[in-house]
Amino acid sequence: MPNTIHIPTPLRPFTDKHESVEVNGATVGELLADLTKRYDGLRKHLYSDDGKLRNFVNVYLNDEDIRYLQREQTPVKAGDSLSIVPSVAGGAPTSAEATVGNPPAINPRAIADLPTLSQDEIKRYSRHLIMPEVGMDGQRKLKAGSVLCIGAGGLGSPAAMYLAAAGIGRIGIVDFDVVDFSNLQRQLLHGTKDVGRTKNESAKSRLNDLNPHVQVDTYETALSSQNALQLFRDYDVILDGTDNFPTRYLVNDACVLTGKPNAYGSIFRFEGQASVFATAGGPCYRCLYPEPPPPGLVPSCAEGGVLGVLPGIIGVIQATETVKLILGIGEPLIGRFMIYDALRMRFRELKLRKDPECPVCGTNPTVTKLIDYEQFCGLRPEPQQAQTTGAAVNDWEITPVDLKKKMDAGETPFVLDVREPNEYQINKIAGSTLIPLGELPRRYQELPRDREIVTQCKMGGRSAKAQEFLKSVGFTNVKNLRGGILEWIDKVDPSQPKY
Ligand SMILES: [Zn+2]
Repeated sequence: MPNTIHIPTPLRPFTDKHESVEVNGATVGELLADLTKRYDGLRKHLYSDDGKLRNFVNVYLNDEDIRYLQREQTPVKAGDSLSIVPSVAGGAPTSAEATVGNPPAINPRAIADLPTLSQDEIKRYSRHLIMPEVGMDGQRKLKAGSVLCIGAGGLGSPAAMYLAAAGIGRIGIVDFDVVDFSNLQRQLLHGTKDVGRTKNESAKSRLNDLNPHVQVDTYETALSSQNALQLFRDYDVILDGTDNFPTRYLVNDACVLTGKPNAYGSIFRFEGQASVFATAGGPCYRCLYPEPPPPGLVPSCAEGGVLGVLPGIIGVIQATETVKLILGIGEPLIGRFMIYDALRMRFRELKLRKDPECPVCGTNPTVTKLIDYEQFCGLRPEPQQAQTTGAAVNDWEITPVDLKKKMDAGETPFVLDVREPNEYQINKIAGSTLIPLGELPRRYQELPRDREIVTQCKMGGRSAKAQEFLKSVGFTNVKNLRGGILEWIDKVDPSQPKY
């Protein structure tokens, strides 16, 4: 009888879009081998060159991490299912479990020291006050509580709105972005009239309108290794609403170093994740993913898209966990990893354990202060700066203007668009050929060997991956279009729509 492997969204391009695959084998390793035999393109995502499972890919047998079973030698039974859980974002099983049902005290102030509620506040919070689990004392704890939201985007919007409505006394927001039309599909803190305003200003006015009793402190800055510790120290809970790996690792490490719980959420297309990291005794994000995936392997929401309601669900889970932590009630999402699939309307829960060898929260941590997270995540430094300053182009890149010049001069580079067909419908470079990145491993033979190839996507990330792949299979004359179709539209063909 075959077993099922659940394929996460970022890897579905490599399984002909299948969400689950039936495979045969007697051990976890055999099931994975059967999977990669059928879908060869998956192999390099799951295994490193020396044949080891990559350490940013976690594999679960039912709800157990195979690292705590017998890894790839773990035997499987009929009906068992395997889940591959890559980041989209060790052996001491007892400590995390011990915290379940025993939430840590986040705000250990004596009841007498808590702020009192005004008549207006009592009226406003009456639906809380009549519940014994909250009551007057609980509401006063919320008023004394403070939460720092990293980002006022998709996750930060619903989270901050519900936290404000619930009466959290002080909400901090770290963001340096400006509201754009493409945000409005999901970032409910901001309205059409706010387009062009800073997200901080827009968020502050929306939250103050929701609840004038809440103090909203905004920080118009990117979170960095220089400012994170100081910012975090001032708050009870940190709510991670980031959309990139450097900031996610930075938030995690800074939470561990300052001892602040991290209400974590992440979203991609139709799938979301949530957990609570970095509580005393509980696991942190690095216990799950010690290292980030190489750049380009996991597309961002700007590249992969996100269902507008999805951050609503995940952001509200983060807010719920935050409120529970501040009240000290219920069973927090500590040592548990929630995965939500909107298409199937299904929640799955995986067990997380604190890794004694975790580089930041383990017994002998190697990360004892904040590091350079851009470098840690392997990101090339400042491609945007190169754009604005007009710095010299690397020999692996071509600019849209130079590509246009070549075309006008009668040279005919083969333009390979590696986006998805629905993106190609929105805009394209005339004469380009579409092969989505996930199909490239089995379709690259369709490409000409005797012409210069220019890889292109929306912004340049996926096409860099395609370029790398083509070089690995022997293509020598491949350049990546800098800035993708968006820069092409800006610099060459403004008649086309942007997305
Ligand atoms: Zn850890």
